[in-house]
Amino acid sequence: MQFPFRYNGITCDWGDNMQYNITDFLFNDGMKRNISTDINVKELNFGNNNYQIDFIHIDVDITNLGYKKINLKGVIKGTLKIPCDRCMEEVDYNLETNFSKDIEFDGDEKIEFIDGYNLDLEKFALDEIIIHLPMKVLCSDTCKGICNQCGTNLNKGTCNCDNSDIDPRLTVFKDLFKEF
Ligand SMILES: [Zn+2]
Ligand SMILES: [Zn+2]
Repeated sequence: MQFPFRYNGITCDWGDNMQYNITDFLFNDGMKRNISTDINVKELNFGNNNYQIDFIHIDVDITNLGYKKINLKGVIKGTLKIPCDRCMEEVDYNLETNFSKDIEFDGDEKIEFIDGYNLDLEKFALDEIIIHLPMKVLCSDTCKGICNQCGTNLNKGTCNCDNSDIDPRLTVFKDLFKEF
């Protein structure tokens, strides 16, 4: 494929990243376009974490609202590999997030995913995903986690560590059960 090329009326330059030049779009009031594309990124770097990405797809309607203002509305879908909060095994986490954003091109506000009259869909999609990442992911509600002494994954095996340092308040119940 030759770059840049015309996609659905919008000039795309896929050189290094996913920059959509929307100059012509911006000067046609009321103009509306849809872009539906995969984001070709393999890894999401966030804080100290690197999450492997299976796929990310963005479907976005761009509407010119007039006065150099546009609206981005659509959905981002994807699958990331995120470690289970208890056992650290990687979980396929499916995400789907809707968005609707107004962008003013002559505003003072610096917008991360806008560079001149270019819209960086990759940056935009990754930002949206980071905002909507869950606080924690579990491989299963019944995940037993790892032994905090020897590191054995207790979903896969047992160990001989004494992990019976039960909260003293709970021993009351332990004794109670003995009576039955
Ligand atoms: Zn787990
Ligand atoms: Zn152990």
